[in-house]
Amino acid sequence: MIVTTPPARALLLRDFPELAVHGRTATRLHPRPGTPDICDSSVGGPLLWPASEPWPVCGEEHYVEKRTVLSAEESAARRADSLASAEAQLRRREQDGAPPQTLEFLRADIKRLGSATGPIVERTHLLERPPAPIPLVPVLQLHRGDAPGLEFPEGTDLLQLLWCPHPHTDMCHEEQAFWRNAASVTDVRPTAPAPDPAAAARRVPRPCTVEPEQVTEYPPICLLDRDADHFEPFGLLPAETEDRLYRWDREQPEDDDYFQLATAPGWKVGGWDPSAAEPDHLRTCSCGTLMRPLLSTYRWENLAGWPSQNGPDSRDDEGPTGVDFARNGSYAILYCPVDPRTHGLEHIID
Ligand SMILES: [Zn+2]
Ligand SMILES: [Zn+2]
Repeated sequence: MIVTTPPARALLLRDFPELAVHGRTATRLHPRPGTPDICDSSVGGPLLWPASEPWPVCGEEHYVEKRTVLSAEESAARRADSLASAEAQLRRREQDGAPPQTLEFLRADIKRLGSATGPIVERTHLLERPPAPIPLVPVLQLHRGDAPGLEFPEGTDLLQLLWCPHPHTDMCHEEQAFWRNAASVTDVRPTAPAPDPAAAARRVPRPCTVEPEQVTEYPPICLLDRDADHFEPFGLLPAETEDRLYRWDREQPEDDDYFQLATAPGWKVGGWDPSAAEPDHLRTCSCGTLMRPLLSTYRWENLAGWPSQNGPDSRDDEGPTGVDFARNGSYAILYCPVDPRTHGLEHIID
């Protein structure tokens, strides 16, 4: 069984023993590209889906990428304009006494523009309603026994999470979670619908087996500069502890700061809120309850920061799931613990 909590965590708990009572269990999934079985917990794998139940679809407006190939004349005219403005900028920066690296960068840009050939392909994103509803794609199938820290609604032991593989108006996905009793699915749909061919690969998780590992996480604190406009203690810990942690964090090397040690990286389920920066990342459900992370995803698994403590690791850190659409690589889906089945999901993109 894989163990990844970094040894430096002990230093955090030595200085802040009071954190212990605020620990929450998260399950790191450790996804690895593979061929998970329909009965397995998996990322992007086949789902144990009742044959009698319609597959979930999305008919909402999406951003669709449009590619326009410009004519040779138009491409040449665009390049001439770009070249003229790049040369003007270089002259201005030379007169301003800009640093040599900046001038070098601008000259390289001019050289590139001067030598470019072929038609320009223009990409624009248009909001469109799909001609036919888009099947959601499997993101996660998880058995209760693989995620002991996650509270399943009564009578359920299987979580299935799917999302629409196109960005919506907020550039996020539309997710749906299904909580089932695995034993009640007897007539199983043999295959999932093929993902929409127009969906970007970076939004469709590739099938991965998982190796669930339970880790402990501690509450986020506001890590913005104290004089920043948005600074506001999160209040998830006693004020004195949050204040002392904030000061402790400032003295730590970047790799061992509070955020690194308190929360696990990569794809994981449960635990504490995935963000430790902006107060607006703490989301409250319309019922007034602080939402909890259901699934947190990250571009990399951070094998350097949270490596395997039990022997060499042959896993590839470069995005095993292929999901990579958030600017800083992080995308999380939150749920309301009061009633995960009827209170809506939220998401945070960063
Ligand atoms: Zn959609
Ligand atoms: Zn709620």
